[in-house]
Amino acid sequence: MQTHDIRKRFLDHFIKAGHTEVPSASLILDDPNLLFVNAGMVPFKPYFLGEQTPPFDRATSVQKCVRTLDIDEVGITTRHNTFFQMAGNFSFGDYFKREAITFAWTLLTNSVEDGGYGIPAEKLWPTVYLDDDEAESIWRDEIGVPAGRIQRRGMKDNYWSMGVPGPCGPCSEIFYDRGPAYGIEGGPEADEDRYIEIWNLVFMQNVRGPGGGKEGYEILGPLPKKNIDTGMGIERVACLLQGVDNVYETDLLKPIIDLAASVTGRAYGAGDHEADVRFRVIADHTRTAAMLIGDGVLPGNDGRGYVLRRLLRRVVRSARLLGAGSTASGPNVSGAGSTASGPNVSGAGSTASGPNVDGADQATMGVFIGAAIDLMAPSYPELADKREHIVSVAVGEEASFAKTLAAGSKLFADAAAATKEANKSTLSGSDAFTLHDTYGFPIDLTLEMAAEAGLQVDEGGFTELMAEQKRRAKADANARKTGHADAGVYREFLDRGPTEFTGYGELVSEARV
Ligand code: ATP
Ligand code: MG
Ligand code: MG
Ligand code: MG
Repeated sequence: MQTHDIRKRFLDHFIKAGHTEVPSASLILDDPNLLFVNAGMVPFKPYFLGEQTPPFDRATSVQKCVRTLDIDEVGITTRHNTFFQMAGNFSFGDYFKREAITFAWTLLTNSVEDGGYGIPAEKLWPTVYLDDDEAESIWRDEIGVPAGRIQRRGMKDNYWSMGVPGPCGPCSEIFYDRGPAYGIEGGPEADEDRYIEIWNLVFMQNVRGPGGGKEGYEILGPLPKKNIDTGMGIERVACLLQGVDNVYETDLLKPIIDLAASVTGRAYGAGDHEADVRFRVIADHTRTAAMLIGDGVLPGNDGRGYVLRRLLRRVVRSARLLGAGSTASGPNVSGAGSTASGPNVSGAGSTASGPNVDGADQATMGVFIGAAIDLMAPSYPELADKREHIVSVAVGEEASFAKTLAAGSKLFADAAAATKEANKSTLSGSDAFTLHDTYGFPIDLTLEMAAEAGLQVDEGGFTELMAEQKRRAKADANARKTGHADAGVYREFLDRGPTEFTGYGELVSEARV
């Protein structure tokens, strides 16, 4: 079943059950605490918080979501995209647990002819919160799931909250058993790779107070009106219904992998795990970049712009590591390494980092991003309207990164040659640091290029220099703030400040859907 069909069946199922269809909101909402919309409920927050009265009791949507927190999982797990579509149904003081569970179950298990997904009931494993006897008994006694397939889980997995004070409540998740080929038996509690989480049903029933701790929240009392908030991952359902191994091989992403294979001349799924991860990163990140640019984000050095920049650069780098943009024999980074295995490293670097690299890469990014637009436009027509803009922003970023790489590659080649001339096998920490600091080379890029040139890198020295630079920057910041270079009193405060872009996008609603 194709993704567009999965999407449509979801909406039809809930429209038939009296829900109003609400179009996806932009990925960028006017909320300083949230980098990107990362769950279907985000646009409905004012209704759940009682700040606004909803114009309907029941709503359904398929919301565009971006989770930067999952960026390092991409291509490595089978189920994490940076951009994905969360389908949801919402009740504002209307129906509660029984209906939410029944609606989800019927959509998943009804036959395809009947408008459902046709998933065999015995593959599904629900979880409930530790003390949620009510939800467990609905699953067991009304739906008929055998008791042995229902698991109870703690706060981390099965309790949701939205700030303090605010609504909170237990949730119930539905997992799909992919079978013994994918991992060990024992339900989601034992193995979340074999048992894939597809749907989270949140039962907002209480108000949370400021107290509580690790063991639980302080519950002030029941909400005057109980709400339902659910989120089903469209890509995950597509993966299962299409019988592929991971979300990157579904119908809206695999074509980008195939393009990457033809552009780089490498085969996907040929037994090289690292190469396969790179293919999956290309597909995932290209699509996320297209969606972000479509919603108005431009590459930059902080916040949303930096996320976009990092995604695009990871695409470029992954393509290069697979062999794109280089006439070199192997999976070289930038062309600079093309003859880097030999002794005259610096010569190779200076010729190969020339214009052929830029040209080839720009064509590459344009092809990938154009494909992502074509694949997503049927559901998100705004992408087709902004096609030229999206392509030109992505290609522009690729060109600027190509320059960075070309400049840094020359320095790398010189340093590698000098290291070899001195009969050493380890590139110094200070060279790695300069590459990072001056040219924006991530350390793993330097490591890869060094390995290709038959060298190691003094990672310890690099880490020490990075730490030193961080200390200096903090001292500078303190000095600016206080007029004193040694105002230790601020240090602790600064230490706690957000220093990495990943994460703060999720702070607000990390606990859930
Ligand atoms: P996981 O435990 O697998 O990371 P989650 O518990 O973080 O998922 P929720 O916050 O409960 O996910 O989101 C609701 C649903 O959205 C999930 O059940 C899943 O189907 C889907 N989903 C969540 N994160 C992703 C992602 N990174 N890529 C694709 N789908 C996702
Ligand atoms: Mg998660
Ligand atoms: Mg989970
Ligand atoms: Mg979940």
